[in-house]
Amino acid sequence: MTSQVHVSTHPLVQHKLALLRDQSTDPKLFRELVRELAVLLAYETTADLPLEALTVQTPMGIARAQVVQERIGLVPILRAGLGLVDGIWNMIPNAEVWHIGLFRDERTLQPVEYYNRLPVSPSVDVCIILDPMLATGGSAVAAVDILKRWGANRIKFLGIIGAPEGVQKLSDAHPDIPIHLAAIDERLNDVGYIVPGLGDAGDRQFGTA
Ligand code: URA
Repeated sequence: MTSQVHVSTHPLVQHKLALLRDQSTDPKLFRELVRELAVLLAYETTADLPLEALTVQTPMGIARAQVVQERIGLVPILRAGLGLVDGIWNMIPNAEVWHIGLFRDERTLQPVEYYNRLPVSPSVDVCIILDPMLATGGSAVAAVDILKRWGANRIKFLGIIGAPEGVQKLSDAHPDIPIHLAAIDERLNDVGYIVPGLGDAGDRQFGTA
């Protein structure tokens, strides 16, 4: 794995991940955990954002301060990526949210694009792709391809669990993209699910299992 792959060792991330994996976790708790994990992982994903210096008038005087000036785009991959948006959006309220719809052809396991309303030219400085499961890597590679064709020059990937195969595929196709995860699991099974993983992240969030 390249040095662009970051697996969180934060105790809260690991604790919440354990609860998330548990098959007895119901959709309500599952959604809450996805939201909390998104915030914790976003904290790590955004740790290298550049800052601009300014001064702020406090009630007591003038403070030297720093702010994030970059325009941030959150790019959830439909539908499982939706649950990762809200918590991060609360923390970065002026982020733009650009949805990308990709489904996996169950026969070929290849991603098929069905939704993309990106404007003609990039409106953000940094894009964070959101997809909880980096399984085969097909959707993640396709999403990065779409954003690069759009003209995005800084892209990051934020997910919860990766399979070694998916992490390798994304790293090989796009070695410039930092990958932030809570865990890398053992393997993919023959229908493209992560083992041990957590099952279908979309079904478990939306109660459609
Ligand atoms: N998508 C999921 O939701 N789960 C997996 O294990 C793989 C892909």
